[in-house]
Amino acid sequence: MAYRVINFNPGPSALPLDVLMKVQEELLDYRGTGMSVMESSHRSPEYDEINEQAMLLAKELMGLGDDYHVIFVGGGASTQFAYIPLNFMHGGKAGAYIDTGTWSTKAIKEAKIIGDMHLAASSKDAEYRFIPKQKDIDLPNDAAYLHITTNNTIKGTQYHYIPETGGIPLIADMSSDILSRRMDFNKFDFFYAGAQKNLGPSGVTLVVIKEHMLSKIKDGLPTMIDYRTHCEKKSLFNTPPAFGVYVMKLVLEWIKDRGGLDAVEDVNRQKKDAVYEVMDEHSDYFKGTAEKDSRSWMNVTMRLPNEDLEKKFIAEGKEAGFIGLKGHRSVGGIRVSLYNAVTLEGAQRVAEFMENFKSKN
Ligand SMILES: *Cc1c(COP(=O)(O)O)cnc(C)c1O
Repeated sequence: MAYRVINFNPGPSALPLDVLMKVQEELLDYRGTGMSVMESSHRSPEYDEINEQAMLLAKELMGLGDDYHVIFVGGGASTQFAYIPLNFMHGGKAGAYIDTGTWSTKAIKEAKIIGDMHLAASSKDAEYRFIPKQKDIDLPNDAAYLHITTNNTIKGTQYHYIPETGGIPLIADMSSDILSRRMDFNKFDFFYAGAQKNLGPSGVTLVVIKEHMLSKIKDGLPTMIDYRTHCEKKSLFNTPPAFGVYVMKLVLEWIKDRGGLDAVEDVNRQKKDAVYEVMDEHSDYFKGTAEKDSRSWMNVTMRLPNEDLEKKFIAEGKEAGFIGLKGHRSVGGIRVSLYNAVTLEGAQRVAEFMENFKSKN
């Protein structure tokens, strides 16, 4: 067995071991083709099946019907920050945004370049420690859409409700919590996720578009930017990030085999409980940066009493076989990322490590 760390990287992050082993097994000769998926034509019947299966599995796991398109594109979630306003923000309508920190701030920046951005709510004044509540959302009734970031990877907060928009299209960046829990995906008109946290390797972005949104797209856009191109061609207009789509398909199969989102949510709940319990038990020592009702299940963020202790925590964690515990460079502190591929045992071991570290330091 190869040497493997317990990987708490925030993204790109751990992939399920079973998936990596399957990739290894199929790498040199994908199903009798005598080549890897990386070397195959994206017009081959083998790739056609991978593409179709990945799309169908994503829909099945999310409970989406024929009124949704699932496409796989390149450019990461960050490209979507610009493509969304380019496609949907026009005709004098503003794009409304909720600012919950780093990634939503970046999405807002792109919207401002392209057109009229309306700030519907923000927790900036409170250092993004919470998710704004429904009653605090100021949404113009002619907005083109409302954009939210369901999980805030850097600030450690997550939506635990889906905003009501009164018919205005709801758009979400789900990069860091997609398929981590049960959710009514049908409440969203458009959502997207860079694959590298919960879905697969970097390089592929999952984009889900409800049919009625296609009629709202601005005319005259360059072909690759217009979402209709990728929906009509089923992600095969140009060369897709094929290997990434293949690995994503294996990850989706892995989720299905475990029992779907019910089972995944159950394990993820136990994982985050293990870590937050230790934090709450020693709340004067492990200071959570998110308010309790906005805590993320995916990224647990905290500060220790001082920076020297944080450095020591990260160094000793490394010796214990954990990597990726350092908080984002913009906020410092400690971040424990508990994406789907992190095992319950991994989460329990880091919780135990926290307990021991506290008693010795
Ligand atoms: C990681 C992340 C991104 C950035 O994704 P890229 O694929 O690197 O562009 C955007 N939004 C959220 C919420 C993220 O966690």
